[in-house]
Order: sequence, then C-alpha cells, then structure tokens
Amino acid sequence: MRAAPFAYLRPDSLEEAFEALAQFGDEAQLLAGGQSLMPAMALRMARPGVLVDISRLAALRGIALEEGALVLGAGTTYAEALRAPLVATHTPLLVEAIPHIAHEAVRSRGTLGGSLANADPASEMPACMLALGAQVVLRSAEGERAVSMEEFALGTYTTAIEPGEILAAIRIPLPESPRRSRFREIARRSGDYAMAGAALVSDEAGEARFVLFAVSDRPILVPGAPDVDAVLAAIDAEVEFFPDNHVGISTKRHLAGVLARDLLSRSAPKEAA
Ligand SMILES: Cc1cc2nc3c(=O)[nH]c(=O)nc-3n(C[C@H](O)[C@H](O)[C@H](O)COP(=O)(O)OP(=O)(O)OC[C@H]3O[C@@H](n4cnc5c(N)ncnc54)[C@H](O)[C@@H]3O)c2cc1C
Repeated sequence: MRAAPFAYLRPDSLEEAFEALAQFGDEAQLLAGGQSLMPAMALRMARPGVLVDISRLAALRGIALEEGALVLGAGTTYAEALRAPLVATHTPLLVEAIPHIAHEAVRSRGTLGGSLANADPASEMPACMLALGAQVVLRSAEGERAVSMEEFALGTYTTAIEPGEILAAIRIPLPESPRRSRFREIARRSGDYAMAGAALVSDEAGEARFVLFAVSDRPILVPGAPDVDAVLAAIDAEVEFFPDNHVGISTKRHLAGVLARDLLSRSAPKEAA
C-alpha cells in the first residue's frame, strides 16, 4: 500500500513550524525521524494532509548540562544519544536501553522526541524518562511549558501535547548523590518490541523509581521500590494490565513480577552516574 497524497513543508525555524501548525490545524502532522509515522502512512493508518518536517531544526538539537539537568533536544536521534559522552556519564540507563530499540537503521533516524510524542506503551524511552524523573519541554507560539513524564503519558498513543505545541526538549534532573540504574526487557527476538520491560533508578538516599512498560496503556511508575515485596504487592493491587497483539494479561502480569524480582533483588547495581 502507498501513502495517501500529502503536501510537504520544511520550515527553517520553530516559529515557521508553529505558523504551519496554526495554518493547517488538524490536517498538519509533524515529521521527525519518520520511523513510526512513515510506516503508519504507508498503511494508511495515518493520513496527514500536510507533513511539517522538523527533522532539521537546529532549535530541537543539542545535548547539554543546564541548571542541574541534562537537556536533550527532542530531535536527538537514538544513535546520537548513544554516542554522547554526557549521556553515558549522567544517564547510563539510556545507554543500556537504546540498543534494545529496533536495529541500527531505525536508531539512526528515530528521535527521542518522536518516541515520547508517539507514546507507544511498548517503547523504551518513555519508560526510561519516567524512571529518571524527566520533564518534557513543550513549546508553542504562545511560549513554553514543562510537563513531568507522569503527566505527559496519558495512554496508548496519547500525550499531553496540545494542538500547536511541539515537544522541544527533555530535561533530566541530575541528582545530588550518585544514581544507579538497571534496565531489562523481555522480547521474542533482539530488537523486537518488548512483551514486558522495566527500568529502575535508585540513589544513595534509598529513593528508587521502578517503572514497568509494555504491560499497560502507558509506562507505570510502581510504588514501593526499592522493597521488592512492596512492589510485587503494588503490581497485584494497582497495575491495570493491557494485552497486546501477542501477549495476554496473565502473561504480562507474570512477566512484570519476574522483572520486579530480577531488578530489585540484585544487591549491587552495575550502572552508576
Ligand atoms: C522496524 C521498526 C522497529 C521499531 N522498534 C521499536 C522498538 O523496539 N522500540 C521503540 O520504542 N520504537 C521502535 N520503533 C519506533 C521508532 O523508535 C520510532 O523512531 C519512534 O517511535 C518515533 O520517532 P521518530 O523520530 O521516528 O518520529 P516520527 O515517526 O517522525 O513521529 C512519530 C509521531 O510523533 C510526532 N512527533 C515527532 N516529533 C515530535 C515533536 N518533537 N513534537 C511533537 N510531536 C512529534 C509525529 O507527528 C508523529 O505523530 C520501531 C520502528 C520500526 C520502523
């Protein structure tokens, strides 16, 4: 199948992109790496009348330390994040997780912002950003607002992005004490979307954030970490499991328990930042 006809715009600035979104409204859709949108268009599951290509906007690029946070431009590709020394130093969780995403061709084009905006519940990046306590920076012609990952991911393919807004950057706060992290996902084959996955971030003060993904309609911050029994109890009592095309609810629930025991029971996490 081929994509339905569409017009193509490549604005030279964020301001021009906002103008295009204002002019074409619901007809317009942003194009970043195209690794989710182009397949969806080819299958005619997405039929934007106007594609607004933001993949070359300088305003969405860059990786920097700013005011106690690691700030990643939304247009950062997975491959760029994987190569960045600042990411390796401050968020080794991302370095551990990114190789699980698809394969090199997808990772060289797909962007962090595109992954968060796409909000596939089986995606690795939204779960990692939630575990890291990240905020997304949403910009529009009216200004800018920061939204926590807890408030950003609203459901399958649904986020807090309002019409006219562009996800510009991701801010990951840097902790005062060293932070440790772990990541694991269970997939049929390397590079496949996960059947279930988990990310854990903990600090020396005993605070921990344990996130499950690919088990519900969004990444879930499960309370109780780092106490494995408390997390297992919360998984039973509080997590609403959703099936996917391959795996039912009871298997998802079982895998969530396996991941919690695995990540929370090991005594000496290997990643530190
Ligand atoms: C074969 C294959 C395997 C894959 N496997 C995985 C996997 O295992 N795990 C995984 O997480 N992903 C996987 N993906 C998806 C891939 O990670 C995509 O790159 C990612 O989901 C979207 O990023 P993108 O930059 O390509 O966005 P696009 O496809 O360009 O856009 C995706 C959506 O986000 C919107 N959007 C993009 N950027 C912004 C922005 N800055 N602000 C607001 N809205 C925006 C677009 O309008 C569109 O609706 C796979 C893709 C393929 C083709």
